[in-house]
Parts: sequence; C-alpha cells; structure tokens
Amino acid sequence: MNYLTIDVEEWFHILDDPAVPVISVWSKLEARLPRNIERILSILDENKVKATMFWLGWAAEKYPALVRRCADAGHEIASHGYAHLLAYEAGREKFREDIQRGKKILEDITGKEVSGFRAAGFGTTADTPWLFDEIRAAGFVYDSSVFPAKRGHGGIVDFKREPHVIYTPDGSLLEIPQSVVEICGRRVSFFGGVYLRIAPVFLIKWGISKLHKEGRPAVIYIHPREVDPEHPRLSLKLHRRFKSYVNLSSTVPKLKWLCENYKFGLMKDFLGTVKREG
Ligand SMILES: [Zn+2]
Repeated sequence: MNYLTIDVEEWFHILDDPAVPVISVWSKLEARLPRNIERILSILDENKVKATMFWLGWAAEKYPALVRRCADAGHEIASHGYAHLLAYEAGREKFREDIQRGKKILEDITGKEVSGFRAAGFGTTADTPWLFDEIRAAGFVYDSSVFPAKRGHGGIVDFKREPHVIYTPDGSLLEIPQSVVEICGRRVSFFGGVYLRIAPVFLIKWGISKLHKEGRPAVIYIHPREVDPEHPRLSLKLHRRFKSYVNLSSTVPKLKWLCENYKFGLMKDFLGTVKREG
C-alpha cells in the first residue's frame, strides 16, 4: 500500500528562515490555499484517489468549509498542529498547547475524531524524546512526523524506516515514518517536497518499487503551494530558496502520474491492519 499525504498550509508556511512571516501577519497575506486545494482535489477526484490531509489548525480555522469539503470527498483529515512550530524550537509545553489546539479545531469542524498527526517540517530530532509521549497524550493514535534521514531541520538518521508501534505512558502510537531508500549506505528520499520535485520519474518509480520489495509502503508528501508555481516568493536565503522553489512546475505532472499508477490508502486505515495483526 502507499499513502499520499498533503500538508495543508499556505505558501508562506516555510521554516527555518528569517524571511518567514510571523503568525500575527499571516491573515494579511495573499490567500492561495483554497484554489490550490481545489486543484489537488480535482486531480485526486479524476483518479479516484483518497489522500491523508494534515491540516494546519490556523488554515482550518480560516477555511472550515474547505476542511468539510475534503472530509466529505472521503479524504482523511489529520493534524499538522496549529501554528507550524518546529517542535525542537517550541519546547515541550508550547508544543503540547499547539497540538491540542490544532486537534480540537479540526474535530469541532468535522465532528469526527482526528487520529493522525504530523509535526511541522518533520521537526522530530534526537533532542525531542518527549515528542511521541505528547502526541499520544493529546489523543492521536498514529504519527507521521519522522524523517528517518539527515535533513535541514528535523530528521533522525538511525530511526527505523518501517512503520512500527511506539509505547508511551498513555498507550501505543503507530509511527509511519516518511519513506527513504538506502543507496550505498545513505538514506535518500524521492518521495516528497523538494526531493519529489527534483527526482526524475524513473528514479521515483525505482524508489517505490524498492520500498515495495522491502515490504514498506511509499509515503508521499505534497504541499498545496507546490501545485502553484506562480505563488509569491519570500526573500529566503539561497539554500532555502532552492529547496522551496526549485522545479515547482513538476509537481502537478508527478502528482498525476502517481495517482494514475499507484494505489493509495488512508493512514487511519493502516492503523486498523496493525491492530488486527496485534
Ligand atoms: Zn508544514
């Protein structure tokens, strides 16, 4: 099985750069999320693909009807926190408040329990050992916050690559890490964000078949801004600019290709299979 995930946030929700606007000005910036979500929904709908959508609480609060529209179309509504905080910068208390707030907003909008969480920027590191306890304590039953490779922000290089259960004081939490493949002992991704945008299709195809041979699902992640190459640009530092803006026009054709060629399930349903096995 494969999982197509969308981190639902605006074009300015980039991390780790002084040019990123602070939350107090977000509502004054140009809004592009609704049309970008509509574009993604139409591609998914044409191909009868269901995605797992990690909604930022701030965006959900602004567009509750759009959250409901995604839920009514059969996509899973999961949480991406409220204010796009990097866990290791926010610290435990602030992170706890943020994820509880994000979850409640989504549950109030949809009237349904939200099972899954993904931290902003896959901001899980060896310095946030409390992270899984807090995610489970907030009531989430699965998490997809870990990028098990070296990365600009976040990333745990020696983390298990396959989905597995993590035990916390509040119960078990299923961890579904971002997909990476090993090439010559190095872990690399072709499966989301900048990695998906710069990798040629043959490499993505090879990577997915390698994951399947190893018995692992392919976890793909896309941001709404990536289907919108004309979105405004922030004055980011050179390396952030490259990662955020290179090859944006390749996302739509790659998303279509993925939808036409692979089957995708919802992450919350993966949870059911693990429970049955356990
Ligand atoms: Zn994000």
